[in-house]
Amino acid sequence: MTDFTETPAVAPLRAETDTCRWQSVGVMAYKEEGSAPFKDITRQTLFDDPDLKCQVRYFEMAAGGHSTLERHEHMHAVMILRGEGHALVGTRIFAVKERDLVNIPGMTWHQFRATGDAPMGFLCVVNQERDKPQLPTEEDLRGMRSDAEVAAFIRC
Ligand code: MN
Repeated sequence: MTDFTETPAVAPLRAETDTCRWQSVGVMAYKEEGSAPFKDITRQTLFDDPDLKCQVRYFEMAAGGHSTLERHEHMHAVMILRGEGHALVGTRIFAVKERDLVNIPGMTWHQFRATGDAPMGFLCVVNQERDKPQLPTEEDLRGMRSDAEVAAFIRC
């Protein structure tokens, strides 16, 4: 299990203290270094409640940064909170901007990239208990790269 104890259990209010930074919420590594391909991206856990059974995380990538190209059984509900960029969902690439919503169904390849010249951040809701992300195999990548637009977009 991931240790999310950096976020205190109970706080009626955590005010935003700087742009997309909140009281007592630590800015953490996105994932363990070397565990998966990613670039210039951080993670903050905003909500993590056993009764609610979900977590709300805020991920932020610097300009040019990207999340891991991955898929898993659990789904993501995403809202872009800061900046703009692009998102791969399955075989489609979408331009995304602040307050756009992105729905990522289970077992769907996905990747976010801050393709502009500023940071891009998004809120991501997930089940508290969930399966581990899968990385693409060479065969998966060959399949994805049969689409020229996807081939040009993905980073892995
Ligand atoms: Mn994911």
